[in-house]
Amino acid sequence: MFKNKSVMTILSRFFIGLIAAGFLMSPRALFSQFKESSKKVVVIDPGHGGTDSGATGTNGIMEKNVVLKVAKEMVRYNQNLFDNALEIYLSRYTDTLISLGERTKLAKRMNADIFISLHCNHSENPNAKGIEVYVSDRKGEHTNESILLAYNIQKANQKNLGFKSRGVKFANFQVLREGSRQIPSVLVEFGFLSNSVEAMHMGKEGNIRALALSVLQSLILSK
Ligand SMILES: [Zn+2]
Repeated sequence: MFKNKSVMTILSRFFIGLIAAGFLMSPRALFSQFKESSKKVVVIDPGHGGTDSGATGTNGIMEKNVVLKVAKEMVRYNQNLFDNALEIYLSRYTDTLISLGERTKLAKRMNADIFISLHCNHSENPNAKGIEVYVSDRKGEHTNESILLAYNIQKANQKNLGFKSRGVKFANFQVLREGSRQIPSVLVEFGFLSNSVEAMHMGKEGNIRALALSVLQSLILSK
């Protein structure tokens, strides 16, 4: 079951982490990490869209809408809470269908430091639950960075939000395969829409915001 940790809890953990990081480096180094040379470019890819709804929840919510909401909340928090610590682009801002090729092309065009595709899971087994994060099974230059990022995202969602962790997995997904040779790339499967508890959880705006904040925190803190 979810622990129902609030957005405030995640935030306070994040700032404690930042303060701890401050002990390890000078204020100037800490400042520059977030403000100057190392401003990371992140392309967030909300899966599906338009005629492709993705999975449908036991409560009728659609994957394409859930992941777009999470992506937009990530953009909002990045602006409002973190003073644009990351330079974020979305592969889609509306309910439209774009090809898999276009999603990764954007990441290459923007010279992105991270490509992250957002999805919700679905299973024939109504009891299947938890978060899993995928990395391309084709070994590339950025495989280790992708694995570390995937691990941090699933760990943060487990710790902050109480999601069961299904671990980091490897698959031959097109969106990961095409980008991962040049860009650290991960695909997040938030909980299962086929599980009534997780579908209900993801149908609530407050929980969408908490998911967004948890993933954003992992991106900001990643090397
Ligand atoms: Zn999907």
